[in-house]
Amino acid sequence: MPNEQLIAANDRVPEQVWVVGAGIIGLTAALQLQAHGLQVTIIDKEGVAAGASQGNAGHFATSEIFPLADPKLLLNLPKMLIDPLGPIRILPQYFFRALPWFSRFAVNMLPNKRLKNSNAIKGLNCLSIHAMKELTQSCDCANLIVTNGSLLVFEKTPFSRVVQQWHRYADEGVPVRLLTGNEARQLEPSLSPNIEYALFFTETGHTKSPKSLCEAFAATFIERGGEILRAELNDIETGKQLSLKYTSDDGQSERIATPEKLLLTTGAWSKIFTTKLGYKVPLDTERGYHLMLPNKIPLHRPVTSFERKFIITPMSEGTRLAGIVEFGGLHAPKSNGCSERFLVHGKAIIPMLENVNEFHDGVEWMGFRPSLPDSLPVLGKTKHSNVFVSFGHQHLGLTWSALTAKLVIQQMTGRKTDIDMEPYSIERF
Ligand SMILES: Cc1cc2nc3c(=O)[nH]c(=O)nc-3n(C[C@H](O)[C@H](O)[C@H](O)COP(=O)(O)OP(=O)(O)OC[C@H]3O[C@@H](n4cnc5c(N)ncnc54)[C@H](O)[C@@H]3O)c2cc1C
Repeated sequence: MPNEQLIAANDRVPEQVWVVGAGIIGLTAALQLQAHGLQVTIIDKEGVAAGASQGNAGHFATSEIFPLADPKLLLNLPKMLIDPLGPIRILPQYFFRALPWFSRFAVNMLPNKRLKNSNAIKGLNCLSIHAMKELTQSCDCANLIVTNGSLLVFEKTPFSRVVQQWHRYADEGVPVRLLTGNEARQLEPSLSPNIEYALFFTETGHTKSPKSLCEAFAATFIERGGEILRAELNDIETGKQLSLKYTSDDGQSERIATPEKLLLTTGAWSKIFTTKLGYKVPLDTERGYHLMLPNKIPLHRPVTSFERKFIITPMSEGTRLAGIVEFGGLHAPKSNGCSERFLVHGKAIIPMLENVNEFHDGVEWMGFRPSLPDSLPVLGKTKHSNVFVSFGHQHLGLTWSALTAKLVIQQMTGRKTDIDMEPYSIERF
């Protein structure tokens, strides 16, 4: 073979399916594709678990069955926005850019839409933990998963409201128990005496390390013959023959790959590609933060504060305090003051954090939740027979990952899907 042909053959990537994005959504999907006998390459511009998937709160939050578009939010929003310790922010320079998303979000507050969206969320939640257990067992990393429930704690909320919250979940079939403060402290002795009540979601769980979970999935994927490249997808040309333009790690040259199928799992960065594919998908990002403390506290399960709207999760690396919803797009730098906020709230819920030395001990992080106004992900086929998508998993990407991987790959390989995929279709916009 002449030399030029050899070079061309080496440059051509022979894999049949390319998965773009090595977050939890891409990794779980790639494993499912392999399980169906396909040859898979994952590319990611920054490597494995570089995005939201490494820094999330680690909670398998199957109790969260309510869409975020809740009319009650409108009453509390002004207070939340002006409170410097509050859970929601809009960067002033992003306000007008976020308006179209907010207007769609407001439409999703209508009772009929809310009911439809909630049913679609429930459809995913009820199968999620089982799918995750199955996948972690097959990848020999089930030790990273803990399923001993989670607590939603209340400090000052009147008892009648706590009971209302309890019924709200229980009436929807979420396994939940109402506890007094003392009963909650029997489960979690490090909780503050100020906790008066708690809801104990008995069937939820958490991972000891979202990053280690992604790394374990990536290692299994490679062991099974998969390839992970550090490369950035720049362009997609659809048609009978798919053509993907990408820049490899050396950043020097643009290359072309021609896999048979493409699965886009680019999280909050997906919009540019869906536009290219001919869709107007109202994807935006809810930027979220965590403060990772090296301190291990005797906490056995995630604890969320109802009033303070943040979560504390025990992890193998220490204790993670996470939350905040910030609208500010993909390019603005991290906002200041998040660590202080987390510490003020964290100390109120777990007094032994009082000893934490503000900046030296903790590592602050920001990530991009990929969010649609209806709180549903975008899954499955597109109008291009060789292009599939899985993104927009908002606050529940870790929770839904193993299941949505299974569903998307069922559809991609022409099998019957375990649930109806219509509510999550890209055609819904
Ligand atoms: C603070 C916080 C707390 C959270 N807590 C929880 C929780 O407790 N439970 C839960 O279920 N979910 C939680 N989430 C949500 C969850 O983390 C996300 O929904 C999930 O990680 C999304 O996964 P992903 O793979 O779609 O996106 P990502 O993890 O962001 O991965 C997308 C990947 O695509 C790559 N990429 C983008 N563009 C390109 C390109 N052009 N070429 C190549 N690669 C590209 C990126 O580099 C990135 O690695 C939380 C999120 C945040 C921010």
